[in-house]
Amino acid sequence: MSTFSSSLHPWRVEDSAELYGVHSWGAGYFDVSDKGEVVICPYGPKGPKVPIPELIDGIKERGYNMPCLLRCENILDSQIASLHESFNKAIKSLGYKGSYRGVFPIKVNQQQQVIEEIADFGSRYHHGLEVGSKGELIAAVAHMSDREACVICNGYKDGEFIDLGLQAQRLGLNVFFVIEMPGELETIIQRSKVLDIRPKLGVRCKLSMRASGHWAESGGERSVFGLSPAEVVDIIDRLKAVDMLDCLRLLHYHLGSQISNIRDIRLGAMEGARFYAGLVEEGAPMGYLDLGGGLAVDYDGSHTNYFSSRNYTMDEYSADIVEAIMATLDEDGIKHPHIVTESGRATVAYYSLLLFNVLDVSRLEPMQLPEKLDDDTPQPVVNLREVLASITPRSLQECYNDAVYYRDEMRQLFATGAVNLRQRCLSERFFWTILMRIAEEKEHLKTIPRDLHDIDVNTADIYYGNFSIFQSLPDSWAIDQLFPIMPVHRLQERPERRGIISDITCDSDGQINHFIDQLGNKRTLELHPLKDGEEYYLGVFLVGAYQETLGDLHNLMGDNNVVSIRVEEDGSYEFVREQEGDTVADVLSYVEYEPRRIMESLRSMAERAVREGRITPSQRFAFLQVFEDGLRGYTYFER
Ligand SMILES: *Cc1c(COP(=O)(O)O)cnc(C)c1O
Repeated sequence: MSTFSSSLHPWRVEDSAELYGVHSWGAGYFDVSDKGEVVICPYGPKGPKVPIPELIDGIKERGYNMPCLLRCENILDSQIASLHESFNKAIKSLGYKGSYRGVFPIKVNQQQQVIEEIADFGSRYHHGLEVGSKGELIAAVAHMSDREACVICNGYKDGEFIDLGLQAQRLGLNVFFVIEMPGELETIIQRSKVLDIRPKLGVRCKLSMRASGHWAESGGERSVFGLSPAEVVDIIDRLKAVDMLDCLRLLHYHLGSQISNIRDIRLGAMEGARFYAGLVEEGAPMGYLDLGGGLAVDYDGSHTNYFSSRNYTMDEYSADIVEAIMATLDEDGIKHPHIVTESGRATVAYYSLLLFNVLDVSRLEPMQLPEKLDDDTPQPVVNLREVLASITPRSLQECYNDAVYYRDEMRQLFATGAVNLRQRCLSERFFWTILMRIAEEKEHLKTIPRDLHDIDVNTADIYYGNFSIFQSLPDSWAIDQLFPIMPVHRLQERPERRGIISDITCDSDGQINHFIDQLGNKRTLELHPLKDGEEYYLGVFLVGAYQETLGDLHNLMGDNNVVSIRVEEDGSYEFVREQEGDTVADVLSYVEYEPRRIMESLRSMAERAVREGRITPSQRFAFLQVFEDGLRGYTYFER
């Protein structure tokens, strides 16, 4: 059953905090208040706390419906500050001679307000931007005014891309072209001659070490990006030939994203430093070592090298990098370079969360079974009844197998017309009753047979959330990424139900049935029963990285509303930005419909109906009104 055994002690908010792991994954930015509400603490646990339910009220008063993405700008600032403070601490304590220059990879969250905030707040640390396309480069140049911050150009570059970068350099920006493909060099040489600008160049090398984890495919020897040692040597020779070796300033590598194991980070830094030393020995001036992204987020709060976690802190990350580079380069007496990292995920993940209301819950209820079976009851149903009667703790697996077998047999008989709808319905009732009994019994077992694990998911409540996974949590669907999910209120109450979450796209993939857990992951989430006339709100946390621009228009669910807040040190806060989600007309036009043409054709359709006497002119008006309102409306469920 989907209720879980309730122990006797009264439920406290601390129990909720522990159950949902807020203190483990929240990095100090989230907590549970005495009133049982999730609060945002942008200045850390000791600072002011803003209750999320109060923010939801504020959002609704301003006319925005759920689902809504809530961003807290201070958290973004705070993450940038932490990154620099961590590196600066390591640099100081280890006596490293270079400095740290972070850059934000725009692809991780391309929203204008994010780039603007990073460029503004980041300027106090000379935090720069990393771009992988012409569009991103234009966005970066438009926001960067700091001449010391780096603008790193990765990705395949054509002549136009290079011209954009060279012009930005002429304006005074610190632009680097990282050569990822041997062919790019000739275009760079040619364009810089034409424009008479000496470019700053980097090379992206493929390390032989390969990090483990979900996202690591982009690193390693077989990665599609980057140059082999032989190609790097060719580039050096070519640069020497055209008298441009003095342009070579930076070495870049990228192991992949969400590197869970600090060991991989350390090994990468050591190998990267060796490559760097090799380039210095060849006579390149160098000066920058860029380690790419990879700094992971502890989504599940387990602090392990599990794919959704990391076995290190930000301080350990920076100390290990600084130490590894220093140890490697000191052996050859090479001057310490500036260290660049391209942390995207860790910079933006924390600052946004998705809020949605639950529209409905479907529960598997105990079912009515007949006391006596009719004489003409099909044999499989009779067998199912026997299975139900024979359930004991030791026979669960066997009963489960039998139940599935007889249920399938009934389905086949139904398909061939041998049994009728009512008989089939009876077999399903027995089947689900058996499953509920097995689910109950298996809780008493020490070890649960593998096959029975799925029973929890099958017998769990289904909470229908007002959002689209494809639009708002694409990685949850595409690569089974885990995010912390929890109710944002009622946390003083014991969550008595167990559920999975379904979105409103009616797609069988539009479901969340893996949840974070300190011990790996769990298949159902503890939730509260709905109350009449009261909304139940869930939050999906740490969604600031990669989720906002990957989303698609599945079922024509569009962008959701977005609201940003900024919290002052006294705890007061302001709604600083609002972004209205797509209307139905917006999403229709994305797929090449023209809302105006749709209205025109509806108008003439309705006019014809009037002419033919099927509706009155005022009914025509009402008909058109409904469609006009519909086109203007939000794509999600509106109460
Ligand atoms: C995606 C990417 C990053 C960002 O990685 P995170 O793990 O999100 O920090 C950095 N550099 C390059 C080249 C990338 O492709």
